[in-house]
Amino acid sequence: MQDDRITKLGAVPRRDGSGRALDWVEARRLLDGLPSGGLNIAYEAVYRHVARGDGHRCALRFIDKRGRRSDLSYEALAGEVSRFANVLARLGVQPGDRVFGLAGRVPSLYVAALGTLAHRAVFCPLFSAFGPDPIAVRLKTGRGRVLVTSSKLYTKKVAAIRDRLPELEHVLVVDAGLAPEGTLSLAQLMQEAPEAYEIGPTDPEDPALLHFTSGTTGTPKGALHVHEAVVAHHVTGRDALDLRPGDVFWCTADPGWVTGTSYGIVAPLTCGVTMIVDEGEFDARRWYGCIASEHVAVWYTSPTAARMLMKAGAELAREYDLSSLRFIASVGEPLNPEVVRWSVDAFGMPIHDNWWQTETGGIMIANTIERDVKPGSMGRPLPGVEAAIVEREPDGRVRVVEEPGVEGELALRRGWPSMFRAYVDQPERYAKCFAGDWYLTGDLARVDEDGYFWFVGRTDDVIKSAGHLIGPFEVESALMEHPVVAEAAVIGKPDPVAGDIIKAFVTLRPGTEVSPELERDLMAFARKRLGPAVAPRQIDFATELPKTRSGKIMRRLLRARELGLPEGDTSTLETFT
Ligand code: ATP
Ligand code: MG
Repeated sequence: MQDDRITKLGAVPRRDGSGRALDWVEARRLLDGLPSGGLNIAYEAVYRHVARGDGHRCALRFIDKRGRRSDLSYEALAGEVSRFANVLARLGVQPGDRVFGLAGRVPSLYVAALGTLAHRAVFCPLFSAFGPDPIAVRLKTGRGRVLVTSSKLYTKKVAAIRDRLPELEHVLVVDAGLAPEGTLSLAQLMQEAPEAYEIGPTDPEDPALLHFTSGTTGTPKGALHVHEAVVAHHVTGRDALDLRPGDVFWCTADPGWVTGTSYGIVAPLTCGVTMIVDEGEFDARRWYGCIASEHVAVWYTSPTAARMLMKAGAELAREYDLSSLRFIASVGEPLNPEVVRWSVDAFGMPIHDNWWQTETGGIMIANTIERDVKPGSMGRPLPGVEAAIVEREPDGRVRVVEEPGVEGELALRRGWPSMFRAYVDQPERYAKCFAGDWYLTGDLARVDEDGYFWFVGRTDDVIKSAGHLIGPFEVESALMEHPVVAEAAVIGKPDPVAGDIIKAFVTLRPGTEVSPELERDLMAFARKRLGPAVAPRQIDFATELPKTRSGKIMRRLLRARELGLPEGDTSTLETFT
């Protein structure tokens, strides 16, 4: 895999001459800080552009489900954000109180997030597709005092659980028209609120954002972040995503999970770009059409979406003028080398994989615009980030593995600004994530002699088979090289002799018939690439793989179903209707 690198011809030098942030102190200087001192995410994202005379630039371009567009300049956004902050003030909401968002990708949700941050309350986004129970659990755990939602979502999902939530005082509905009983009309409150708001003193350590994890490995955890995180959001937006003022940027992630907030709201606005907010769901034609018509320069998406586009074929991509694209990145899951190579064919450039977690708050390891891409590698640590492969010792300490190529747990030296500061109500679990100076990520990886990191699997998903430790990603990527395979997921299945045997679940490209010959062909294909010890012994064909709403394959669910075990927490499971 490593000789397969994609060389960046005449590597792109940084055009703005800003240089690289060497450390976080230097990175902090790229931001303005509040005029009265302190650091507030909303100020850096919105108000400072107005203060610098750039308020006329377009901050947010909204495309509704029917394809109609509307623009909000930085100045207009600042006005809306201020009104929302004033609404909270009038309702008696205090700094540190929790404001939840439960809505589709509509401008009011973005205004609510930023207005909450301006008011120094804590914003917690939820996926609008969650059912009543996951909503209730998160609102309760997060002690939500205010909920911003739509009348439809309120009536369908929240009204019936309201009596389980005594701490939820105010529900604000974003749509025009009559607010359901027990709610207030946000439009009306906004109309009555003044358009000027002065952000109060904000300590960089003040809490700002609460994000629940994707629940891929178990019950989601509530990770709390502080205003200082904006330093990492900004500099990683610049260095990992190559965002420059005036760029048109599209992050396809929903703000219901951390990517849709860190890189769907905060980072792009701090970088002064125009961000696209598309209310619609995934559709290959809609997406290509959006890139073409909006002249998207930087596009941040997920491996799942990229695999779906690949399934739709490169010919479809070529029907659209995608020449505005300068940089494409993805996050959330390992990006199979096959997809990276396909992207070069379809878009004329690789998709740049990067790695991070809800807990890290921002991108930590990335393929950047300047460096060669090794398909299948998640890139190198960003400036300011110290990443290492470590072994846990029996006494609880960790040992850094210096030799390249050795698999171990991925760890980060603590101290980066967007590091989570707590798991809500789980101090012990939080403490367990650290060993001395190291934050232990729960992911396995290895690093090569050029300093590129390679994802092996989550510690929970790794398979022990006949004395080998096998990461599912390697097996899945090999299966995906077969021309008929669209997606693959691999689990370990207990076996009296081998410990675990490898079982694969595979979805096929359109028009492919399932047959015993195909199964044999796939097995032989995998054996040839991986060797008999690592190749799957069983293959099941599926129409869909179970995924979280953030697009991650839930291998634990495949395993539980295969073994007839309880399914555990399925609150984030995407259900197909
Ligand atoms: P939970 O912690 O509740 O099980 P989760 O870990 O899936 O859920 P997130 O924080 O949204 O929740 O996802 C982060 C995880 O996603 C990482 O720890 C890693 O396992 C995976 N991931 C993210 N980016 C990449 C990548 N580029 N390559 C491989 N895996 C990735
Ligand atoms: Mg996790």
